[in-house]
Amino acid sequence: MNGGGQGIGLARLPAQKSLGQHFLLDMNITRKIVRAAGDLAGRTVIEIGPGPGGLTRALLESPARAVLAIEKDSRFVEALQPMATESLGRLTIIEGDAMSLDPATFGTAPRVIVANLPYNVGTPLLVAWLKNITDYESLTLMFQKEVAERITASVGTSGYGRLSVIAQAVAQVQRVASVPARAFTPPPKVDSAVVHLRPLPDAASVPLDMLERVTQAAFHQRRKMLRHSLRNLGGEELLAKLGLDPTWRAENVPVSSYIALARILGTPKR
Ligand code: SAM
Repeated sequence: MNGGGQGIGLARLPAQKSLGQHFLLDMNITRKIVRAAGDLAGRTVIEIGPGPGGLTRALLESPARAVLAIEKDSRFVEALQPMATESLGRLTIIEGDAMSLDPATFGTAPRVIVANLPYNVGTPLLVAWLKNITDYESLTLMFQKEVAERITASVGTSGYGRLSVIAQAVAQVQRVASVPARAFTPPPKVDSAVVHLRPLPDAASVPLDMLERVTQAAFHQRRKMLRHSLRNLGGEELLAKLGLDPTWRAENVPVSSYIALARILGTPKR
């Protein structure tokens, strides 16, 4: 008994690099990711990219009400059908591109997303979900280690940037596990880490589109002083409204101040 069941056999399908296919076949690791997702009882779990189904199988072991798995590679959509049948209706495999689907329209609330994301689309998917974070109870996502570090980085550190601000403005973020490259088949070039995100109580009130504009301007040349990098958005006059030091650089500005800047810029002038 290998503990992996069907998921392991399916991995014999050759991995496609263009779809970021690096599979987790060790059920100890996939179960650890599922534990990191918290209590799944009664939740609809949306998995992006089930691939050969190692994480899917661990999700089915949880008390989740339903698992909806969105997969772009039709080979896996077909190969996972027996697992869906065996699940007696709890698992549904949906063929599609996660980049053009809205997971919040699948199944019923409360919804959580749990995924070992394809590296090439991990960041844009996360940003899209953050824009509607209140649709989810939590997101538990595997990223390249460097991306996980950027999501969770504290102000004043080298990893602190746009992604840290945008994520931490709307979610409580926590790095919950590290996974070495050798744990994947085939192994990627870099290690990975799992991040758990939960919406903050006031997430819905954060003007994320404006926050994206402000952080884009501030971090575009992160060594520039704010009075220069934010010149087109109001420069020193804008910074003075919040008592922010115009000689600061983007990486010194806490998330709360970026939110305050976005709120001022998003308020129509009388
Ligand atoms: N969950 C599996 C595991 O942990 O072994 C596979 C993870 S693998 C890193 C990423 C999976 O996402 C692959 O199965 C790949 O085919 C799928 N994928 C890639 N791009 C996708 C997209 N745009 N929409 C849906 N699935 C995608």
